[in-house]
Amino acid sequence: MADQLDILKRLQALDSQLFRLRREQEEKPRQLEQAASAVAAQEAQLKAVESRLKTLQLSQKEKEVELQTREGQVRKLQGQLFQVKTNKEYSAMQREIESLKADNSLLEEAVLRLFDAIDQAAQERRREQERLAQQQERLRLERERIERELAAVGEQLAQLERSREALVPDIAPAALAAYERILDIRDGLAMVPLVSESCGGCHRRLPPQVISQVYLKADLVTCETCNRILYVDDATAQR
Ligand SMILES: [Zn+2]
Repeated sequence: MADQLDILKRLQALDSQLFRLRREQEEKPRQLEQAASAVAAQEAQLKAVESRLKTLQLSQKEKEVELQTREGQVRKLQGQLFQVKTNKEYSAMQREIESLKADNSLLEEAVLRLFDAIDQAAQERRREQERLAQQQERLRLERERIERELAAVGEQLAQLERSREALVPDIAPAALAAYERILDIRDGLAMVPLVSESCGGCHRRLPPQVISQVYLKADLVTCETCNRILYVDDATAQR
């Protein structure tokens, strides 16, 4: 059983690396999430600026059309001004023209203000487009980095799997089955050393007879609490 324990310890060393690498394999793509959500937020920001710009341009067009119509009215009234018969009609019409002109100059000011607002919104759109390009570039680089790292992890995994396959035939099927069952339920850690008089996995204090059995190496001895297989770590054992 002593040599079986040694092989199981070597298997555990491989499985610990396999477990860690498989977890990396799962978690790495999640590192992209932050960069991807920054791109999505920036796209939304750009869209908001674009729609504001569109609204401003539309309202500017509307006001320009309105201005042209009103200027046409002024010209029409000015043409009619010389056809009126009485002074009273003449001054009434003149007052109407003045009032229209006053409205129009307000409208002109509004159109000018809209020009400024459109100008600013267009500049803002340019800035947001640049920011989006930066965020997209960052995401691209992140994706490349993660793909590179995943490829390296894949190679390491394949190598470890090969080492594992070479080791497995030397283990008794029952011991291997017990080991793998514990490995599965205990997050990739099935073999733990004695630490002083406690289990190296769950740190519970072990009964003296269990400790003696572990030292005997005659059988697979498991911790009563966490079910992990116990062994004596010759480097740290004190007895
Ligand atoms: Zn334990």
